[in-house]
Amino acid sequence: MAKINTHYRKLSAGYLFPEIGRRIKEFQQENPQARVHRLGIGNTTEPLTRTIVAGLQDAVGRLADAETYTGYGDEQGEEKLREALARFYGKRGVILDKDEFFISDGAKPDAGNIQSIFNTDNQVAFQDPAYPVYVDSNVIAGRSGSFKSGAGNYSGFIYMVCNSENGFIPEPPKQKVDLLYLCSPNNPTGAVATHKELQKFVDYARDKKAVLIFDAAYAEFIGDSSLPRSIYEVDGAKECAIEINSFSKSAGFTGVRLGWAIVPRDLVCEDSEHGELHRLWLRRQTTFFNGASNIAQRGGLAVLSEAGQKECASLISYYMKNAAIIREGLLKTGLTVYGGVNAPYLWLEAPQGLSSWEFFDKLLHEAQVVGTPGSGFGPSGEGYFRLSAFGHREDVEEAVKSIQDKLKL
Ligand SMILES: *Cc1c(COP(=O)(O)O)cnc(C)c1O
Repeated sequence: MAKINTHYRKLSAGYLFPEIGRRIKEFQQENPQARVHRLGIGNTTEPLTRTIVAGLQDAVGRLADAETYTGYGDEQGEEKLREALARFYGKRGVILDKDEFFISDGAKPDAGNIQSIFNTDNQVAFQDPAYPVYVDSNVIAGRSGSFKSGAGNYSGFIYMVCNSENGFIPEPPKQKVDLLYLCSPNNPTGAVATHKELQKFVDYARDKKAVLIFDAAYAEFIGDSSLPRSIYEVDGAKECAIEINSFSKSAGFTGVRLGWAIVPRDLVCEDSEHGELHRLWLRRQTTFFNGASNIAQRGGLAVLSEAGQKECASLISYYMKNAAIIREGLLKTGLTVYGGVNAPYLWLEAPQGLSSWEFFDKLLHEAQVVGTPGSGFGPSGEGYFRLSAFGHREDVEEAVKSIQDKLKL
C-alpha cells in the first residue's frame, strides 16, 4: 500500500495567484471595455540582449555539429562558467573558489532543495513576509506543525517580522534557531539589508552554529555601492552562509533557466566536519540533478562577459526607471511607499486601514490596476501591497497615471 507524504496536506492553499486571476476575470466580465494594467507580476518582460542572444545561438550551433556536440556536462556546472562567476565575485572583493559554485536551473529549485542536506529536526526561521518556497519546502520536509489559519502561519516555525518599524529588516531571533532564510534585496518588500544588519545575522549564526540561506536573486538591482550584494561581503559569512542566486531577474533568464548556489568549503554547522556540507550538496546534486542546460550555460557565460554585463546593466536600469516612475508617481498621491530604490519591488501601505485584499479590489475597480496582496507572502504582509517594476514602460506609465487620476484617497 503506497502512502502519500502527508506533509503536503499541511500546505496552506496556494491560492494567491489563482485568486488574483479569478478577481480580474470577474471584473472584466462586468466591465468588458475596461483596460486592466498589471503591476503585479514578478516576471521579466524585456527581451534578451544582443550579446546574450549570440551566446545562446552559438551554443545551439555547437550542438548541431558533430565536431563540437556535447552531451551531459559536469553536474556542478561548466568549469568556464564557474570560473567566470568566481571572477565576477572577485571584482567585488569576494574570493571564492570555482569549486564552491554549483550551477543549477535556477534559484527557486535551489532554495527549495537546499534544506535536504539538513536534519528534519532543525528549527527554521523565515523573514515574514517572504518568497513562499522557503516556508513551503520546509513544510514538505516535515519541519513544521500544522497551518494555523487564524494566525496565517505554521506552528513550529519562527517568523521574523518585517514591518515599517524595523525598516522591513528583522533582528536575529532571540531563541536558538538552526536554519535562517534571508532575502536581500527582498521580494516582496524591496528592502535591502546593510552590512551592519547582515553582520548581526552572521555573528548570530556563528555563535549558534546555525546556517544562513541567503537569496541574492536581486543583488544586481542594488545601485547604492555601500550596500552588500553578496552575504560573503560580510566578515565570517563563509563559515555560516549558503548563497543562492540566478540570472533570471538580472539577465532576463526567467524562461531560459540558470542559477547558482555557493556552498563554501568552510561552511560548518553543529555536527558537521570541515567541508562536509559542501560535499553533501555535491552528493545531492550528482544524485538528483544532471546539470543545467549547456545552451543556458553558454548564455550565462555571455551574461558575464564585458559586453553582456554592460547590456544587463541597461536592462536593469530600464526596470529601475520603471520603479522610480511608480515610486514618485504614487508618493505624489499621498500613498506610503517603501522599496523600489535598490530593488524592483515597491511595497505600499494599504491606505485607510484596508486589508491587502480590500485594497486589491479598490485598486482594480477604481484604477484598473492589478498588484499583489501582501498577505499572500505571510501574515506580516497583511495591510501591505506589492507592485512590481517588471513591465513595458508605456504600461507602467499608464498604470501610474490611472492611479493618480482615478484612485480615491
Ligand atoms: C524570482 C526569484 C528567484 C529566481 O528564481 P529562478 O528559479 O532563478 O527563476 C529567486 N528568489 C526570489 C526571491 C525571487 O523573487
